[in-house]
Amino acid sequence: MSLDGRIVLGMGLHTLSPSRAGDFKSCPQLFKFRAVDRLPEPTTTYQARGTTAHRALQRLFDLPREHRTPEALYDLFRAAWAEVRTTEDYEGLFSSLEEERAWGLESLAILANYFHVEDPSSFDPLERELDLREDLDGMTIRGILDRMEELPDGSLVISDYKTGKAPPEQYALPAFFALKTYALLIRRRTGRTPDRVRLIYLGGPNGPVVYEIPVNDAQLDAMDRQLRALWATIERAMARDEFPPRPGPLCDWCSFRDICPAWAVPDGLGGSPLAEPILDETGAAAD
Ligand code: SF4
Repeated sequence: MSLDGRIVLGMGLHTLSPSRAGDFKSCPQLFKFRAVDRLPEPTTTYQARGTTAHRALQRLFDLPREHRTPEALYDLFRAAWAEVRTTEDYEGLFSSLEEERAWGLESLAILANYFHVEDPSSFDPLERELDLREDLDGMTIRGILDRMEELPDGSLVISDYKTGKAPPEQYALPAFFALKTYALLIRRRTGRTPDRVRLIYLGGPNGPVVYEIPVNDAQLDAMDRQLRALWATIERAMARDEFPPRPGPLCDWCSFRDICPAWAVPDGLGGSPLAEPILDETGAAAD
């Protein structure tokens, strides 16, 4: 890895986050654009909401239990946005104050949903915004866990906030990839296996949705094997500079579609993808 954090081809993989691992599983070319080439991407109002809401929700638990009210959360959101809006990534995101105000009101309505999901005055998390970086026999896996708590029955739960809308339940399983990775890292760090992982979706027209699944040692062992296989596949891709694009529905939201080889068709032939990747047993692009 270079001094600025860029992964340099030929130097091997040093650190992998669940987000970048997910990129590679979805589309190796997307992984290359983001992790290897480190191309800039425009920030969106959805990212601004996610960043700001996470800060506010994290700080809510700094308050005494009796002060963890909706009004306090709204104030924390406003204060967090005052910080975030002046940062380089988010400066000038809105074209007018009216647009920014409408975004703010919509954000507060989404945050109001949080109180339909749980009562933050009823517990104190064990961890918040925990920066996890664990070495798994030569692989460094890194991620930031939103929250972890121990319930009265003694079970250990990892929770992740999402300000967007929940996918239909039958498509939610891939969204647990990051949380199961965090559970593996927690087991590695503490020797304790989390009991459950939860996705808390606050947005969407139907209000908040919580998806929760149990985890156990066998699942985390399988996640460990999956990460090792994925790591090896990425290292091979990097050594050969082979990152086949995997066109699909994701392309509609991809920042790099204009420069993606899958969509680079000769003038006059229209924009249909040219490449179909070959997948290996991990679900990643094969070499
Ligand atoms: S446009 Fe589609 S195929 Fe190309 S990098 Fe983005 S997600 Fe992958």
